[in-house]
Amino acid sequence: METCIFCKIIREEIPCHKIYEDKDSLAFLDIKPHALGHTVVIPKNHVETVFELSEWEAQELMIDVITVMNRIKTVLAPDGFNVGWNHHPAGGQVVPHLHFHIFPRYEGDGGGSMHSIIKSPGEKSVTEIAALFQK
Ligand code: 5GP
Ligand code: ZN
Repeated sequence: METCIFCKIIREEIPCHKIYEDKDSLAFLDIKPHALGHTVVIPKNHVETVFELSEWEAQELMIDVITVMNRIKTVLAPDGFNVGWNHHPAGGQVVPHLHFHIFPRYEGDGGGSMHSIIKSPGEKSVTEIAALFQK
């Protein structure tokens, strides 16, 4: 049995504020919210990253993320969203169970965009990087 904290939430061994559930996915409010209504959406199968999802599971999960965004839109009426996931510790992932973060955004909330996550483009030019993909 998985000992990960999100699997414990799925098994209801740890409580959460659930805002959506179907047979494959669960969405609940983040315990340390970075935005009003900060929500995480997780697959019920324990996988660490998107690379372990089947094509079908990936499609279903994306549909569930959009369903949850719609629910948040109805209840909290945000002005926008940031949606994404931290992939591996280098990308900021702490809980090793795949989860999408949904940050509802509000005019004047003081937050940034995806671009504020990192500004470290490295030494190679964009043209040099593009050439690597031609090999
Ligand atoms: P990560 O950095 O792995 O992408 O983010 C994990 C997120 O899970 C964090 O935002 C953290 O606040 C949230 N989290 C960790 N443990 C719990 C918990 O027990 N309950 C809830 N609701 N959120 C949690
Ligand atoms: Zn898990």
